[in-house]
Amino acid sequence: MSDAAQYTREEQAAVRAIVAAGGTPDCPRCSVAMTLRHIGGGSFGLGYARQREWLICPTCHRSALFDIKRGTRN
Ligand SMILES: [Zn+2]
Repeated sequence: MSDAAQYTREEQAAVRAIVAAGGTPDCPRCSVAMTLRHIGGGSFGLGYARQREWLICPTCHRSALFDIKRGTRN
């Protein structure tokens, strides 16, 4: 594990709220659009419906990883 800088709990909560609403957040530090990567689905063998959203700031390289609960439609 790296010791890369992290967002504060408050910053993570703000980013998460935007992601949960379906938006793409800006970095709370840099005010630039963060890169959103979807992690999950069946390919990682998690065995249940789950998706993670990984937000990376292209400027300061802080990142935040969230479990996003989505409605299952199957
Ligand atoms: Zn940043």
